[in-house]
Amino acid sequence: MSTGYGKILESLQHSRFRSKFRLTRKDRMYVLDKGIPTIRRHAIEILSSRIAPRFPKNDGRQTPMKGHPVFVAQHATATCCRGCIQKWHGIEKGRALTEQEVDFLADLIMAWIKRELIACCTPMVV
Ligand SMILES: [Zn+2]
Repeated sequence: MSTGYGKILESLQHSRFRSKFRLTRKDRMYVLDKGIPTIRRHAIEILSSRIAPRFPKNDGRQTPMKGHPVFVAQHATATCCRGCIQKWHGIEKGRALTEQEVDFLADLIMAWIKRELIACCTPMVV
């Protein structure tokens, strides 16, 4: 994990709202079962369809609170809607996200998910 993501994750930890999101045991098992590369691909797909368009559908309410580990991670990392992304990550609304931005957000989501796995499953290697 680069220090950049570590810093962002740390400031998110200071938000009472963001820091209350945790992966359930079922979520963690799902991640371990599918594998990190597959979950990252899911993150890219979810971000591309629900977040990246210039005007995402139902923006602000497009990310469920549970049902997929990436959804939970999106709330924890403030990548759940364009308003949160603008506020926390400085990417302005009203335009489509670039591929690079989607990659950046997916890496942040994965950094958070890996942290969740390490927090409860040491010494499991991720
Ligand atoms: Zn949001």
